[in-house]
Amino acid sequence: MSIIAANLQAVEATIETAVQAVERTRSEVQLLAVSKTFPVEAVLEAMAAGQAAFGENYLQEALEKIAHVARAQPDSKIEWHFIGPIQSNKTRPIAASFDWVHTVERLKIAQRLSEQRPPELGPLNICLQVNISGEASKSGASEAELPELARAVAQLPNLRLRGLMAIPEQASDPAQQRAAFARLRKLSDTLRAGGLALDTLSMGMSGDMDAAIAEGATIVRIGSAIFGARHYE
Ligand SMILES: *Cc1c(COP(=O)(O)O)cnc(C)c1O
Repeated sequence: MSIIAANLQAVEATIETAVQAVERTRSEVQLLAVSKTFPVEAVLEAMAAGQAAFGENYLQEALEKIAHVARAQPDSKIEWHFIGPIQSNKTRPIAASFDWVHTVERLKIAQRLSEQRPPELGPLNICLQVNISGEASKSGASEAELPELARAVAQLPNLRLRGLMAIPEQASDPAQQRAAFARLRKLSDTLRAGGLALDTLSMGMSGDMDAAIAEGATIVRIGSAIFGARHYE
């Protein structure tokens, strides 16, 4: 078995244990394999082990992998999720090549994604990134601006607002990890009580997936636990 296949099995076991601990079911949590910085061969290896959803942060790198996978495995049904920072002049290729975008934090970006989404692809799935760590993070909409942003994005014709995403400040204490994820869940509950049909909480990475699943994560974004340590150039 390849290292990636073995790592996927180990992550699968961790998710299984985490869902059982809180009496959730495995099917409520989607495993998103974050392949940023890894070559397309790593993606193909994970696909061979049954993985079907991949997250990428860097547009150019992602577009190359998406094109390669489409050529190498034209019949594969792979879901591509964009999870990196979005520059407003890069929305068109994101709208055309991805199934999900997790990192929308401004209405302007959402409007562009909606205008530029090719209609034949159907609506683009959207998560709003929320800054739940205050000054420790610069990314994400503030909790104060979230309700208005969510209502506006939900109106856009070629998007489907699915839920919220956060990258909390790193913490090694599980209680602290859970507190941050619980905040995101409460924000989502409030928006749902206000009438928005949200079904997604994108939260949890290699170091804190247990805590995220305990607090209701429906997508965990896992990179290094599957592909190994990243090396940036
Ligand atoms: C890199 C990245 C991940 C994966 O992080 P790991 O700690 O390697 O699991 C998840 N989400 C986002 C937004 C990322 O940028």
